[in-house]
Amino acid sequence: MSARGPCAPPPAELDRLLRACIQCGLCLPHCATYLATANEAQSPRGRLLLLGRLVAEPSRVPAAAEIDALDLCLGCRACVTACPSGISATLLEVAKARAHAVRRGPGAWLIAALLSRRGALAALGAPIRWGRAALPRLPWTGSRVGRWVAAVPASWQDADLARLLAGLVARAGAGGASGTDGAARAARRATPPAPPRRVALFRGCASGALLPHAQQRLRALLTAAGCEVSVPRGQACCGALAEHAGQPRRAARQRRVNLAALARDPADVVIVEAAGCGLELQGYPPPLAARARDAAAVLAELPLPPPRAVPLRVAYHDPCHARHGQGIVDEPRALLARIPGLIVVEPREAEVCCGSGGPYALLHPELAARMGRRKAQCLAETGADLIVTGNPGCLGQIAGALRDVAPDLPILPLTDLLWWAHVAGEC
Ligand code: SF4
Ligand code: SF4
Repeated sequence: MSARGPCAPPPAELDRLLRACIQCGLCLPHCATYLATANEAQSPRGRLLLLGRLVAEPSRVPAAAEIDALDLCLGCRACVTACPSGISATLLEVAKARAHAVRRGPGAWLIAALLSRRGALAALGAPIRWGRAALPRLPWTGSRVGRWVAAVPASWQDADLARLLAGLVARAGAGGASGTDGAARAARRATPPAPPRRVALFRGCASGALLPHAQQRLRALLTAAGCEVSVPRGQACCGALAEHAGQPRRAARQRRVNLAALARDPADVVIVEAAGCGLELQGYPPPLAARARDAAAVLAELPLPPPRAVPLRVAYHDPCHARHGQGIVDEPRALLARIPGLIVVEPREAEVCCGSGGPYALLHPELAARMGRRKAQCLAETGADLIVTGNPGCLGQIAGALRDVAPDLPILPLTDLLWWAHVAGEC
């Protein structure tokens, strides 16, 4: 989750940061890899102990199990949020960089190179989705990347999404438009236009390639809230995938491309839909760092048109890059709470990572699948009619797990639900 790459602090500073850990173990129940393995080495405390040993013995070649322990950290920062002693996220980045320095395989950079190209992802994704029902298996359908792409739920057209949500409402027992709905629609027509605000959309690789209709709906929401929306040309991957794969120079190149593309746009705010890209952009040099904002955080400040009633029980899944990386917890819930009839239900272990972690689920599929199933069970236990989230990686990871755990429980981008509540029928 580094923004500028894992620059290791000098040894004395590293030692000072490591001393912050008092070995209390309070972070353990928040760490997805510890919960999935029950192995202390796969816990924050275990990783920090190990990193301390490696720092103290710089000439020792770490054993394979030690490299595994560091490499399997998701970088989710749930431990940083939970730690009463204030450990630094830098330590986890340094630990991961140590693992990458010893273990450099072609898999990570190949996967990062593929996922960070919108065109390649879109080309791969379209026939896989199309072929799921109608075509014989394509050569890459069974590959790790193919399965990952196929797990991301369909990028619904507006009409299909509206049908899905109306069906959920009917199934939940509310059935059809209510009086509140009609009143809200009338109020919507009477609402004066909000003051325009210039915003630029950061497209992102997975959002832009795999969920293009959801991105259009976010644009419609922003427009309905009075924003003037631009999509600056020449954007690249934010660089997070290259960082995850241990390719800082590639990440730096992508940052330069984005800095140039977004500097040309006069928008006050750069809106980022995917929480992972948002955190990465907030680590760019100023002024872009201060302009990059999460879509939910911006929407929560905007005067959206009055919503229709949506009498559903909805659970929000917090992407770690939003909750632990950007401190975004209340905003998505506040947006849901504005919708009449909607009940927000809270899953247990809301702060624990789902196991997506950029290319992590592709590099460590079995461990990631275990974490995904645990997350899907926590969400299903709430009795929710619908799950929503703010990151395409989490969306695909949880959708894949829900197919086994609760096949009738759908998951959508938060902004898709907001679009249906506030805008559908008006655009
Ligand atoms: S909660 Fe903080 S101080 Fe306690 S073991 Fe975990 S990292 Fe160390
Ligand atoms: S960053 Fe996440 S996976 Fe890594 S040690 Fe902390 S809680 Fe565990």
